[in-house]
Amino acid sequence: MSGIPAAALASKSAVPLTTPENDWYGYGGVGDYQSSHGNTPELVSTAHQIRNGSLEKNASDVQSTEEYDLVIVGCGMAGLGAALEFMAKHKTGQRCLILDNHPIFGGEAKENEFNVTGTTLLAPQGANGFFVPEPVSDPNTARGDARYYAQLGIPRELPYARLPETNPPIYFCNDNFGYLVRGLQDQISIGHYYNQKSSDNSHWAVDMWRRELRNTPLPEQSRKSLLDWYRSGQTQHFEDENQARKFLDSMSYKSFLENVLNMPPECSAAADLFLASAAGLGSDAMSAYAAYKLPMPGLSDVPPESLKRHSFPGGNSGYARYFLKTLIPDSIQGERKFEDIITGRINFAAFDRPDQPIRMRMNATAFSVQHHSEQREGVEVLYRKDGRNHALKAKAVIMATGGWINRHIVKDMPRSYHNAYSEFQHAPFLVANVALNNWRFMEKLGISGAIWQGGENEFGFTCNLRRPMHVGRHTPALDPNHPAVLTFYTPFYYPGLPIPAQTLKGRMELFNTSYAQYEQKIIAQMLKLFGSAGFNPRNDVAGIVLNRWGHAYSVPYPGFYGGNSDEMSGRDIIRQSYGRIAFAHSELDGLQHWGPAADEGRRAYTQLAGAL
Ligand SMILES: Cc1cc2nc3c(=O)[nH]c(=O)nc-3n(C[C@H](O)[C@H](O)[C@H](O)COP(=O)(O)OP(=O)(O)OC[C@H]3O[C@@H](n4cnc5c(N)ncnc54)[C@H](O)[C@@H]3O)c2cc1C
Repeated sequence: MSGIPAAALASKSAVPLTTPENDWYGYGGVGDYQSSHGNTPELVSTAHQIRNGSLEKNASDVQSTEEYDLVIVGCGMAGLGAALEFMAKHKTGQRCLILDNHPIFGGEAKENEFNVTGTTLLAPQGANGFFVPEPVSDPNTARGDARYYAQLGIPRELPYARLPETNPPIYFCNDNFGYLVRGLQDQISIGHYYNQKSSDNSHWAVDMWRRELRNTPLPEQSRKSLLDWYRSGQTQHFEDENQARKFLDSMSYKSFLENVLNMPPECSAAADLFLASAAGLGSDAMSAYAAYKLPMPGLSDVPPESLKRHSFPGGNSGYARYFLKTLIPDSIQGERKFEDIITGRINFAAFDRPDQPIRMRMNATAFSVQHHSEQREGVEVLYRKDGRNHALKAKAVIMATGGWINRHIVKDMPRSYHNAYSEFQHAPFLVANVALNNWRFMEKLGISGAIWQGGENEFGFTCNLRRPMHVGRHTPALDPNHPAVLTFYTPFYYPGLPIPAQTLKGRMELFNTSYAQYEQKIIAQMLKLFGSAGFNPRNDVAGIVLNRWGHAYSVPYPGFYGGNSDEMSGRDIIRQSYGRIAFAHSELDGLQHWGPAADEGRRAYTQLAGAL
């Protein structure tokens, strides 16, 4: 199996996780998601206990035992995908239980809610944007986004707020990601902030790609190189995916640009922010094959102007809610229609009722999963809830959880799976949502989003205001005098360091910074960017929610997809079920995305269906 060099993996070590201090988690907003924003402090300390084996020491102290046909561990998009397939295919009388260690379902597809002077504002905690997939005639033969979009009946026309016509035009991105995408960025009012002043004596270069970088302080030669990179289309042609994979997965995107296309390092540096926001680390750590699939300059043409990204008010929590409403109809108040599904209140009492084929149990952390000594007798799952241990007997178990946790809790996992999992690399991520009373300071600059260089004394790299989708009780005006959420998508990447050192350094920073310290850094950054345009934190900021994701993204490094070898890649080993246990998580796809995540769950169900 190919992978990153052994020497680079050797430096992989764990973050010294401890129980977070009281000032770590911070404000959670209002509504159903307020106690579950990013990794919870309980989750962080339980992860520590799982890793040092202390939960298992008391495993014999079991308070209850229940039996199910299928247990799914993890209620993110992969777990929900597995459950949707169980729902469609199960025989009468079969029962399924889903466990999740958060207070609410969705995994990385959750939302924050604010109430600012009577206005409801929703914002994503993690996964947030999408393209509406092409329609399909038969969802049952389709895969990924297109399959579920059709199967769940999600609308294709999506309603957005408009800026008052009397306002000077500012162009918005519908989500928190498209403004970083080549081609799409040209259609959005984005300001690049430079520490040194440009020719027109400003730190800002607004719409810099459309203006061919003429308004930046960059030297002439750099502008030319960056424009060549930004505009470069498909330079490589492959007979099939396998040929593309073998060539491109043997090098990083940085190496592709510099060694294959002879571009200077400033081009790969310019790609870092987009790549780290999409998949965890920058161009030095990213397989050129992942860059090809994304698609990046030099590997694909500029996307057409007609391509539009979208985002439900709470981001991809909208998808999680569609799945849930199908699995347990009473779990979201209201009818099975778009506005109720997206903004209806959650009915937690409906999650875990004995009379339904699918039950869902939150705040329940699985810490031991293994077959009974006779495999045909099924699998035993031990989990912890409210400080007590409980047992489940299941005919089969789907681990819809990431490898960093599966390695510690699946006790009889074969060595080949351990070896495969040891090659996965996970990067952290922070999503900070800042509720504003107004955004006049951005209107003054003529921008809906900002990008800056980041660094030692800075917070983050980007922030933007989405054009709000109007659904149900989420109808904020798109008006600079009205409340809105400014979202900071913040990767942690340190070009030049080995991959494990980058992810470790990022996790250390993410976990060892208190809420108050982050709050201070965010305000200081906003003052630097927007102070001269009138930003005043006392008047303008209504609240800040931090969503910390310790293992946000599986990094598709060079070799992740198998490199130039014909041997099975690590992810293909994990995709095989063994006994009555199968694994499903978006990390197996390399570029994590909601539809393929649900497909992983569906595949895992199909592998185990015969055992139920
Ligand atoms: C910042 C960010 C932005 C993203 N943007 C997008 C986007 O725009 N579009 C997109 O499609 N995707 C996006 N993604 C990717 C997103 O992660 C996937 O699309 C998908 O939501 C992941 O689903 P999953 O089920 O594989 O994993 P997860 O969401 O990680 O779900 C796994 C669940 O299992 C739980 N769990 C783990 N261990 C245990 C245990 N021992 N016991 C019980 N429960 C456990 C976890 O806490 C979690 O709730 C983004 C991700 C991040 C972090």
